[in-house]
Amino acid sequence: MSNSLKYIEVAVDLPVYGTFTYMAPDGISEGLLEGKRVVVPFGQRRTTGYALCESEYKNEYDDKEIKSISDVLDKTPLFPSSMVPFFKWISDYYIYPIGAVIKAALPGGIRSGKTKTKMESYICLSGCGTPDDKLPLSHKKVVDCLLSCEEMSLKCLKEYVPNAAKAVKALNKKGYVITSQRPVYHDPFGEEINPDIAPVPTQEQENIISSVLSCIGKGFSPFLLTGVTGSGKTEVYMKLASAAVNQGCSVLVLVPEIALISQMEKRFRARFGECVAILHSGLSSGEKFDQWSRITYKKTSIVIGARSALFAPLENIGLIVVDEEHDPSYKQEGGLRYNARDLAVVRAKLENCIVLLGSATPSVQSYQNVLSNKFNGLTLTRRIENRMLPDVDIVDLKHNRDSRGMRRFLSQKLIDGIKNTLFRDEQVLLFLNRRGFAGFPVCSVCGEAVKCKNCDITLTLHKTSNAYKCHYCGYAKEAGSGCGKCGSLAIKLIGLGTEKVEAAVKSLFPKARVARMDSDTTLRKGSVLKILKDLSEHNIDILIGTQMVAKGHDYPNITLVGIICADLSLSFPDFRACERTFQLLAQVAGRAGRGDSKGRVILQTYNPDHFTILSAKKQDYKSFYENEIIYRKELNYPPFSKMIMIRLSGKDKQRTQACAKALGKCCNDLKAGNISFQKSVIVLGPVEASISKIAGKYRWQILLKGDSFNSIHQFAEKIFFENANKICGKDVSVVIDVDPYLMM
Ligand code: ADP
Ligand code: ZN
Ligand code: ZN
Repeated sequence: MSNSLKYIEVAVDLPVYGTFTYMAPDGISEGLLEGKRVVVPFGQRRTTGYALCESEYKNEYDDKEIKSISDVLDKTPLFPSSMVPFFKWISDYYIYPIGAVIKAALPGGIRSGKTKTKMESYICLSGCGTPDDKLPLSHKKVVDCLLSCEEMSLKCLKEYVPNAAKAVKALNKKGYVITSQRPVYHDPFGEEINPDIAPVPTQEQENIISSVLSCIGKGFSPFLLTGVTGSGKTEVYMKLASAAVNQGCSVLVLVPEIALISQMEKRFRARFGECVAILHSGLSSGEKFDQWSRITYKKTSIVIGARSALFAPLENIGLIVVDEEHDPSYKQEGGLRYNARDLAVVRAKLENCIVLLGSATPSVQSYQNVLSNKFNGLTLTRRIENRMLPDVDIVDLKHNRDSRGMRRFLSQKLIDGIKNTLFRDEQVLLFLNRRGFAGFPVCSVCGEAVKCKNCDITLTLHKTSNAYKCHYCGYAKEAGSGCGKCGSLAIKLIGLGTEKVEAAVKSLFPKARVARMDSDTTLRKGSVLKILKDLSEHNIDILIGTQMVAKGHDYPNITLVGIICADLSLSFPDFRACERTFQLLAQVAGRAGRGDSKGRVILQTYNPDHFTILSAKKQDYKSFYENEIIYRKELNYPPFSKMIMIRLSGKDKQRTQACAKALGKCCNDLKAGNISFQKSVIVLGPVEASISKIAGKYRWQILLKGDSFNSIHQFAEKIFFENANKICGKDVSVVIDVDPYLMM
């Protein structure tokens, strides 16, 4: 065959690994298919898939064997072909079918193919024929409106002329006006944002900006920017974004959670106006689809969003920013278990651009990357205008008993602090990392904890709904139902939750306006924003919350932060327990005193001498890191080793255990028969997970650990492809979690 035939590579929407080659339908060139959904014959049936790239004629194929694409589902591509290598990389690294990777990357509205872009009618005068004076009043009004501004949407016209639709129809018939259909983009923001003026960077900011700028357009360059909250990191992001946009590049900014996105978005909008697109899970699928279309049509050059915005269909990216890079919400649990922070670095590598990770409390992983010269380290050492870091007082809860010897969870120091703050008409933030009324409901007769029927987890009392609830599966049990073991109604509550703190604070300070922010009070869309708005307008005096309140909000009038119990996450069976605790404490403490007055933090703890608590008190990341890294090294945990978790779960207890044991044996056999694996792969388990049951499913895990990622990855692939399906079948599911975050 003389001239080479072209084919197209397709990722099918089925749980299969690898891609398949098809011929384009008659009359359509392969290049035009890239990024579109197609229907293809696959075995005996037809399936949808994603057209990836043109591929050259390959000798091993006999033309007749290559089938044709049956149908093309999209008019315009859903993603640029420059993203294909990224999808392939992800599929490979996370051992996940490529079709499923792409499906997970696309927003929901597109996936179903049901959502269409909303169209809006726009009306303008045709200029042919002058409307005569005898027009009905409503027609005349419409003409007047159109004379005053060249063009108006029908929606807008209706505000002036209630029956505009009818009038426009009539005018259209007479040829006086022209109607055209154009897509409308929902504005997910609502609020008006006033343009801001970029401040002059400080010397420190200037140095950082120029060292990053010197790398723009010169290939892949990763940076880690460390700086306490309020040191001007966001301002640095905006300056760099502006420079990238001026050079004709696009910019991707990742932010942890919805409330934070709204803050970041506000500041970017104030600076960059319309050219910003927002993507996050709080948008309806229609809204998401609109934002996605704006990006594919290149109406925007800056995308801000949560984890999944990583997949924004941007081309020619110049800069990727990952704010609060340490945040655990960058790790997706379930489905494609990816880490958006890590993938941001990968995407930057593939796009040959700059990636800037920023945090006040960087992950041990990223900081280690700076020390080993994989990342360039940048530091902002001072708060803007030298605003001071808050004073942190530590209260030892072990000595905190009231006159009857009962433990109290609000120390006198904290109560006095709240009193004084309220007296000065300033605001208080109280932090406790557990929602609900109390930690553990326990039977006072037989000592049995009230547990979830689906999970291996103690239930939590929720006063407002008068029920015990499971925080893992949502199971709820009426509060009056008593002990499941002995039937006694004498259930006592041990421990503490946000609801209980709220009740105590309300009774101590009856005049104060108290609000609570946790996942119970923020179920409804927009409720987080409402609480934050009330906080900024000082309609709230005391805000009590879980880690939701810890994140980057800037409220100058909050001058006291109380940490009710700093230890709750310290003892989790997880090698990152200290890292997480340090990050949380330092972030919450950073909420105090962002205005002109110096803030104060009262940190209550049972472990006042723990290095995590001490370094959080000083907001001293380095001292935390230096202590923590010793443990990591001694126990050979990441960043000194790599990990892959094989997770099994099933409804039948015995069967799940049996599968875990059998798969464990496969691991040991594989190791025994391979000298290289013997040296490079450590197999831990199988063990029952620390939370042995969630939502009715029993959980087991096998942890692979080793110095060489390639070795454990190869090992995991072999086990997964050669053994897992054979052993486990349909009733026990096996998933691979590469770089696992949740160890429980
Ligand atoms: P971070 O992101 O590190 O918390 P921000 O960028 O939000 O810090 O800066 C903290 C505050 O200081 C913000 O109100 C910001 O507008 C202001 N700011 C930042 N840089 C400057 C500057 N160069 N001059 C004046 N104000 C600044
Ligand atoms: Zn009992
Ligand atoms: Zn449960």
